[in-house]
Amino acid sequence: MPHSVSPIGYVRSCFKEKFAIPRQPRLAPAARGVLELLPPFDSGDAVAGLEQVSHVWLLFLFHQALESEPRLKVRPPRLGGNRMVGVFATRSTHRPNGIGQSVVKLDGVEPGRLLLSGIDLLDGTPVLDIKPYVPYADALTDARNEMASAAPETIAIEWSQAGLRQARSEALRLGEPLVELVEQCLAQDPRPAYQKPEPERRYGAQFWDVDVRWHYPAPGRIRVLEVARTMPQPD
Ligand code: SAM
Repeated sequence: MPHSVSPIGYVRSCFKEKFAIPRQPRLAPAARGVLELLPPFDSGDAVAGLEQVSHVWLLFLFHQALESEPRLKVRPPRLGGNRMVGVFATRSTHRPNGIGQSVVKLDGVEPGRLLLSGIDLLDGTPVLDIKPYVPYADALTDARNEMASAAPETIAIEWSQAGLRQARSEALRLGEPLVELVEQCLAQDPRPAYQKPEPERRYGAQFWDVDVRWHYPAPGRIRVLEVARTMPQPD
């Protein structure tokens, strides 16, 4: 039986494109965003009591990955992008109903807004529900997942002098931990596993309104080359 749901709010996120978003929440604690609630949830009533909670579950729509035909098997990046497994064995964005779930840190509760960090959500993500994290029920010490038994290995990040100087200056302007955000996200190595990172190949992603460009000088190393504010878009 079809059942329709409507967003209770939208996330304003540091991530303006899918590339370089960590593959799960909490891998980049400096990834911050605001969940802006829609009426009637914006009056304060619906979030009263949430200030007693350190983390929340967000149920949301993968709005930039919605597909009309459900996939039964997917190739998770975690398995190198070349092994197919059942969609329900993965956290793939390509799934029936397009619903994602992330446990994120709740940094503040304001009428109409939740301040979040450790997010893995694209800017503009529609949120369908919020639930408090309940440690005694949600933290499972005997849980097992042989496909993803530990956080992915991270790789070393280095900066060009000019890149780091510019990142620090943009961080001050934004009032955001931009250097940490870039380091935490790039340390996850956003490149698809099947791509061979030739040293001359440049990669890029936008964090807040800042473009960051990097390359792989050697396997297992990233060097951030350039950091620049994006050009304002004409109206
Ligand atoms: N933690 C969630 C889950 O388990 O359902 C998301 C996991 S999914 C593998 C994480 C990826 O989803 C991110 O790396 C990002 O590229 C992508 N993503 C985040 N928000 C999205 C959105 N609104 N639409 C499409 N893709 C999104």
